[in-house]
Amino acid sequence: MPCSHHQPFRPRPVMPRRRSNGGPRIAVIGGSLTGPAVALMFAQAGFSHVNLYEATPAGTTLGGGLISLEHSSLGILDQAGVDQDEYVHVPSETIWQTPVKDRVLGDPVRRVYPGRFTTWTQLHDALTRRVPNDLVTTGARLTGLTAHRGHPLLEFAEGFTVSADVVVFADGRASTGRRLLDPNRRLRYAGYVGHRGSLGFNPTAMVDFWRLEPCPGVQFNIAPIPGGADWTFYLNAGPGEYTRMFGAAPRQRLFAQPRHVGGTARAHVDGNAVWHLPEPFASAVHCTASRTAFPVMDIEPPTQMVWPVGDGFAVLLGDALAPVRAHTARGANNGFEQGDGLVTALCQHLRHDADLGNALSGWQRRYLPAAVAAVRLGPVIGGRLGLGVSPDADSANLVELTV
Ligand SMILES: Cc1cc2nc3c(=O)[nH]c(=O)nc-3n(C[C@H](O)[C@H](O)[C@H](O)COP(=O)(O)OP(=O)(O)OC[C@H]3O[C@@H](n4cnc5c(N)ncnc54)[C@H](O)[C@@H]3O)c2cc1C
Repeated sequence: MPCSHHQPFRPRPVMPRRRSNGGPRIAVIGGSLTGPAVALMFAQAGFSHVNLYEATPAGTTLGGGLISLEHSSLGILDQAGVDQDEYVHVPSETIWQTPVKDRVLGDPVRRVYPGRFTTWTQLHDALTRRVPNDLVTTGARLTGLTAHRGHPLLEFAEGFTVSADVVVFADGRASTGRRLLDPNRRLRYAGYVGHRGSLGFNPTAMVDFWRLEPCPGVQFNIAPIPGGADWTFYLNAGPGEYTRMFGAAPRQRLFAQPRHVGGTARAHVDGNAVWHLPEPFASAVHCTASRTAFPVMDIEPPTQMVWPVGDGFAVLLGDALAPVRAHTARGANNGFEQGDGLVTALCQHLRHDADLGNALSGWQRRYLPAAVAAVRLGPVIGGRLGLGVSPDADSANLVELTV
């Protein structure tokens, strides 16, 4: 039986359930940030049938730059025993927001950030080293989900299937789970690109996050990371321009890896750096050897987080549920908060026989509004910065940009 698309989630009447030792069989899809965090929390809470499946093979370095984590996420990581020293290397809580005129820095305004700065790499390493190895299968790409004999059955490209009771999709903004469960929510290009680079030196010996705003349509963020600095340069680009720079349309290439960043993209970014940024930032960009980029994408806000699959359930969380614009700084935070809430809800099932569907319904009620708000916030911030398509743009323009 195919998995039930579009079926609004309504908890079934409470049925007496036999409490099985170790709780339901939980399959987590995705081993980046949200997936390992939730798998770790489930294991620590006493769930003994947890497995995590990650598409990329073991040892593949995905890499990733700066991420800011709010106190809520830091607290969740504290609770999970992930020592902050492992993933926060400068104890800054400051963002310097700085106008730039004629390539000269104006007076910076101090914004206090309620959290700390880390990097994807530090966080991923700190989490994955704690998830027991025997829970993790790498090189396993989920391709299908059906209900078989009442249970969710996961199908993998590598030719095997797995039966579970609860499927937790933490498979990111190109989520297969979202495509299977909520296929009408499709990503659309927002009309600008985050060009990224990591430097092996710190060009101004900065200890805080710096945000440079030369003019509408241009924003440059830079912050210290271990061994250097990480920058993101946001610049407008039509879909054709994106394709010329990175060899495929935005929806086909949601992450341009170093091998996709050729001479055209480098020249575009270096030219804009020289045009807009003061020294030494322009030189720092020029000196960055290995670069990546991502098209900024929008999506309809989610209306549901839980789907019944046979007698079991599938849930979306993190970027799989709500791939928000990076300006919101909410992506990883949402994933940790939703993951923590999910474990709390399922603990009521494990320890006190709460009905599983009811527990998931309560979780959705608690976390859906924040996910919706974060999706809506992205275009508002982008519009304020003159980046991409403004929320008021006419529909013809939106269609033109949907590639
Ligand atoms: C420039 C930039 C700045 C950002 N800054 C912040 C910030 O300050 N604060 C913040 O909170 N967030 C920030 N984010 C967002 C944050 O990086 C993401 O929200 C976060 O990485 C999402 O984590 P995730 O685990 O949900 O998904 P992802 O990191 O996308 O991981 C998904 C994983 O699932 C795997 N996968 C995919 N499909 C399958 C499949 N079919 N089967 C098996 N495995 C699969 C992938 O290989 C991947 O490992 C930023 C993002 C960018 C680009």
